Amino acid sequence: MNIAILSGKGGTGKTTVSTNLAITLGFNYVDCDVEEPNGFIFLNPSILKQEDVMVEYPVIDQEKCNLCGTCVKVCQFNALANTGKEIVVFNKLCHDCGACKIVCKQNALTYEKRTTGKVESGATESITCHRGILNVGEPMAVPVIRTLLVGLPDENHLIDCPPGTSCNVVTALRYADAAILVTEPSEFGLHDLKMALELVKLYQIPYGIVINKDDGKENIIKKYCKSSDTTLLGTIPYSMEAAVLYSRGSMLCVDPSYRVNFYAITEKMKEVFPWK
Ligand code: SF4
Ligand code: SF4
Repeated sequence: MNIAILSGKGGTGKTTVSTNLAITLGFNYVDCDVEEPNGFIFLNPSILKQEDVMVEYPVIDQEKCNLCGTCVKVCQFNALANTGKEIVVFNKLCHDCGACKIVCKQNALTYEKRTTGKVESGATESITCHRGILNVGEPMAVPVIRTLLVGLPDENHLIDCPPGTSCNVVTALRYADAAILVTEPSEFGLHDLKMALELVKLYQIPYGIVINKDDGKENIIKKYCKSSDTTLLGTIPYSMEAAVLYSRGSMLCVDPSYRVNFYAITEKMKEVFPWK
């Protein structure tokens, strides 16, 4: 089973919940937040394997090209431009869809490969860990996320998604059997949580909410869960000790006072999700 951990906005504690639940449950950990993968800071796995992520982009043979512009019209991503003297390729905008080659009657297009990032696999004493790293300056995270998730073994994984509700999150959710939405008790947190919920509901998978930095009160998120009949899986308390542990790169679940929270969340997950 693959469980996606997502949040409507960054900074809610998505990676804290993902890494600590992975250790508590014995699930493998997959860091899909490829623009800023920081789960390995906490899990500290030994890296066993690395692989470059390659994407293709078109190269125009200007001798064969008659500047008809058909490839420019078919490109949905504005990766091609016709200057009247040549076809210019913006290779970082290319989504590697292949349409331009199909429509070129002059056979003037070939494809070359370039590296956009890499994926790494490693292991701690108890779990396997994977992460994707997008190269600095690359605008498209999807190829790295897809490489990370395609061909995952039929085991249990926690997928630490990118923040927000962009196509990066959409790509990660395609591989999920259930979802956990991490939020914080604030107006901003609730606003972005609702957007993330709308996205998750499209996938018709079971889901629940974890409140991080919980104040222990009947706060705005708890009220929302009750009024919308949304499952609250559990809470992580708001405290100075948690912030200190986090800043040291320590796992919260090794501290008995927080371990109880993660156990409670896993018990609730087993009730709500199709557990294997
Ligand atoms: S479709 Fe082919 S011939 Fe036409 S502009 Fe593009 S590369 Fe040139
Ligand atoms: S492969 Fe697709 S995205 Fe890339 S330039 Fe050609 S049409 Fe555009």
